[in-house]
Order: sequence, then structure tokens, then C-alpha cells
Amino acid sequence: MMVGLAKAKCPRCRRGDIFSTPTYNFGGQKMHERCSHCNLYYEREPGYWYVAMFVSYALNVAEMVTFAVGVHILTGSNSPWLYTCVLLGIIFILSPFNYRYSRVILLYWLTPGLHYEPARAADKPADSNTTHQEITGS
Ligand SMILES: [Zn+2]
Repeated sequence: MMVGLAKAKCPRCRRGDIFSTPTYNFGGQKMHERCSHCNLYYEREPGYWYVAMFVSYALNVAEMVTFAVGVHILTGSNSPWLYTCVLLGIIFILSPFNYRYSRVILLYWLTPGLHYEPARAADKPADSNTTHQEITGS
């Protein structure tokens, strides 16, 4: 599971890629609309990616706290400018990472009813023509 998450693979079959571009590139990250292997429609409902903003916020807070503590341990400084510069730099550098993994975490851990289905990981998906309606209709 952690490998699939780290590689940003489809949460259902762990075979198809979620993103069509690498984390760091100059054109921005683009997503596949559907899993190339099991045909999962990634945007589970309208506004689904909006929820990823909250995940991204949590990631940012965790990273800022981690690096603030790290700066304090390494330098012992009390200068607010040092912390401000380091943290702004960190958030800027990690923003592509946060964008990508906020969505991956949302798909993997925060979406009820969406989980790994080993049958779909087979070379020929058990049901390759599942539609969006069939997936989201509960
Ligand atoms: Zn898939």
C-alpha cells in the first residue's frame, strides 16, 4: 500500500498512474482522468479535489512545524526572519509534492468505499467497462 501511495498509483488496482507528469517539472502536474488499468474515474464527485486542499493544508502545517523545530535545534535562533525565510522556502519547494500527495492521500485514505481490489490488479481487469455512475452510486 505504501509503495502504491508513494508512486501515486491508482488506489483501486495499484497499477495505473494517477498523474501523467512527474512531481517536479516545469509544465505543472497533469492528472489522468481515469485509471489506464481498471478505468477508475479519479474525480469521485464534483468538487472532490476541493477536499484535497484541506489535506494539503494539514501537510503544510506538519511540514512547517517539523522544519521550525529543525531550525531551532540546528541554530538555536530566535530571529523571526530566519524562520519566515526558511519556512516560506520550504513551502515553495514542497508545493508540487503537497499538491500531488494531498490528492493521493485523499484517494487512498479519506474516500469511503474506495480501497484496493486485488482482482482488479490482474493483467486483464475483471470489469474494465465500469462507468462513473456505477462507481459513485452507493
Ligand atoms: Zn486502477
